[in-house]
Amino acid sequence: MDTDKTYSYSDLEKWDFLGTALAVIGQPIQHSLSPTMQNALIRSLSEREPSFSKWAYFKFEIDPNMLSEALQLFHSKKFLGLNLTLPHKVLALDSVKAVSESAKNIGAINTLKWTPSGYVGYNTDGYGLEMGIKSALGVGLNNANVLILGAGGAARAAVVQALKQGARSIYIRNRSKNRLNELMNGLSGLAGFHKIQPIETIEALAELPEQGICINATSLGLKAEDPLPLDLTLMPAEWSVYDMVYNPKETQLTKQATEQNRMQSTGLGMLVHQGAKAFELWSEKKVDALIMEQAAEKALEIK
Ligand code: NAP
Repeated sequence: MDTDKTYSYSDLEKWDFLGTALAVIGQPIQHSLSPTMQNALIRSLSEREPSFSKWAYFKFEIDPNMLSEALQLFHSKKFLGLNLTLPHKVLALDSVKAVSESAKNIGAINTLKWTPSGYVGYNTDGYGLEMGIKSALGVGLNNANVLILGAGGAARAAVVQALKQGARSIYIRNRSKNRLNELMNGLSGLAGFHKIQPIETIEALAELPEQGICINATSLGLKAEDPLPLDLTLMPAEWSVYDMVYNPKETQLTKQATEQNRMQSTGLGMLVHQGAKAFELWSEKKVDALIMEQAAEKALEIK
């Protein structure tokens, strides 16, 4: 089977791969880096453990209206693991048999593991973010002041991870007030909620603590012409920047951060580590994320 091909629902109906199948599903999905990095990992593992030579990771474009039927088919075809990307991360909650505690808190799942009675859902985005920040900026979220830009699924994963890691304070800023309020309401039952503070005015940014990590969890930065999600000149000088956007390799935000001598990184590390954690859940083995990172970097250079 061809792991570069984009498969469809009708391909799934005819699916007859005899090995251990994994896949990412989304819409659109053609440009996903997940097959490249996961198959690089599988090739490397199979050099030491031949059983992995029967594993392969595919990509499927699935319409959200067909998600529930598709997940039943993936299960009957015995796909061991699935990654979910836009627009399926929340929708899939209704189609799995159980959800891990941290995925429940995030309210979205990005990783499914096959069990005889149905898929179990996990969310590895928060772990990916934590590891991405640690490896790029050399600091963790524990005891940190964190400003999160955005109020969608990625922002919520970031808030939940920051709470889990014991961040000192968590600030959230978002374009639409309604969505910010929705996010705040959704988080209100979590331990540590008192540490979370919405930032509704530009003036409030100058009042932030001296040091911290600003995380861009908006979709701004994906296109070259996108405006900045935040003008960093409004922030205290010692805040570093982690942009979840990973393509392009430099965004307007990380460019401005560099010009202001701030530590900064785009989000490839997050993508790599959420994928590595997913593979660890499926294989129950520790994996080397560096192999995945090298494969993803190479693929981004070619694109
Ligand atoms: P989402 O649920 O659609 O949320 C998008 C967010 O971006 C919302 O807060 C939205 O604000 C904001 N936004 C969109 N357009 C804007 C604009 N023109 N001006 C200001 N704010 C704007 O998306 P998501 O799933 O949370 O993903 C957010 C980003 O994280 C995406 O770029 C995604 O690729 C990235 N991500 C990266 C990784 C990784 O592994 N590196 C993993 C997950 C996500 P409103 O509420 O005002 O609309």
